[in-house]
Amino acid sequence: MNKTIVIVGGGPAGLEAAAALGSSPHHVLILEKEHETGGKLKNWHHLFPNFADAFEILKSLEKTLPLNNPEVKYDSNVCKIEQMDGKLLVLLNKGEKINADAVLLATGFDLFDAHKKEEYGYGIYKNVVTSFELEEMFKIGSFPDHLKDGMPKKIAMVHCVGSRDKKAGNLHCSKLCCITGVKQAIELRKHLPNSSVYNFYMDLRMYGQHFEELYQEAQEDYGITFIRGRVSEIAENSEGSLQVKAEDTLSGRPMKMVFDMVVLLLGMTPASSTTPISVSLGLPRTNAGFLSPLHQHIAANETCIPGLFLAGTCREPLSLQESITDARAAAFKIIEWLKLKDNN
Ligand SMILES: Cc1cc2nc3c(=O)[nH]c(=O)nc-3n(C[C@H](O)[C@H](O)[C@H](O)COP(=O)(O)OP(=O)(O)OC[C@H]3O[C@@H](n4cnc5c(N)ncnc54)[C@H](O)[C@@H]3O)c2cc1C
Ligand code: SF4
Repeated sequence: MNKTIVIVGGGPAGLEAAAALGSSPHHVLILEKEHETGGKLKNWHHLFPNFADAFEILKSLEKTLPLNNPEVKYDSNVCKIEQMDGKLLVLLNKGEKINADAVLLATGFDLFDAHKKEEYGYGIYKNVVTSFELEEMFKIGSFPDHLKDGMPKKIAMVHCVGSRDKKAGNLHCSKLCCITGVKQAIELRKHLPNSSVYNFYMDLRMYGQHFEELYQEAQEDYGITFIRGRVSEIAENSEGSLQVKAEDTLSGRPMKMVFDMVVLLLGMTPASSTTPISVSLGLPRTNAGFLSPLHQHIAANETCIPGLFLAGTCREPLSLQESITDARAAAFKIIEWLKLKDNN
């Protein structure tokens, strides 16, 4: 018998799960709160580790969706899910209610709000920008005039903004901002060949395939400097340049350097849009606040709620490749669960 599978979130994880489930006999429905699918991927320019075009990757993901199944509903923010007679009742903020046999949460992540790190002057000094805004500049292919007439010469990249930071309330490592910092530093050098780029890091987490090689390339082929030091403060001087104070943790010495532009590498935080859903279901969260799976090792896509599954970055920071692989695993678990339910 055909069932209804609701996927909450049409980002890369939601799209991949829909592609895997779309050829099943079940009705697949994606509920996306924005007016288009693609999640964060639609904001990126080139992707680590191989500088693939993010737009092309998104188009490829969308192309694999079977025709007519999934059905996609845009501007559909899921605000609540309730358990009812062995099914799940999905409530939209527009007041609509949908009965589902299985629900996949693929609600993704939020970026850390840089305003919270007041000492970095984001929102006060216009030449302090975020990694998110830098992607937009790469997409447009130019830099705003306030950044030294669009040609910043000396650029600092600050790692761990809002991650591994007790004061910011986030102890977790966001996993992807180190490699994003390496990728963006290389792109800066490609766009601005006369610039020099300095990355201030606490530790470098090059955990994925080809990440370490890209880090080596950044130093050897693009002359990017990596300084092991936590930035304590950024201040603007009278000429509009930015003074960065840090402690070089290798030499133990405090240091001050002046830059034309500072890029804050934002950490990944739990999606606030998921909070009302998890509260309505009493779904547990990890220490970092992401949605908690039934078992970290052997049931990473299942939850303690029958019929409710997780995929992608709603459960932890993941790269695109990891999010996609995770979504396929979740789709497989859903089909398996629906079969079991039918046999019982
Ligand atoms: C700065 C930065 C750069 C990155 N660059 C790369 C890169 O170069 N290469 C790489 O491999 N990875 C990169 N990543 C990681 C990549 O963006 C993620 O792996 C990917 O976006 C995760 O997909 P997702 O579907 O889990 O989440 P998201 O992309 O966040 O998508 C979630 C979707 O769910 C929707 N949604 C949320 N809540 C609701 C709700 N309540 N109701 C309905 N819809 C909802 C959202 O609108 C969104 O469309 C980067 C991450 C960051 C932070
Ligand atoms: S990945 Fe790197 S920049 Fe991001 S939180 Fe971890 S150590 Fe910091």
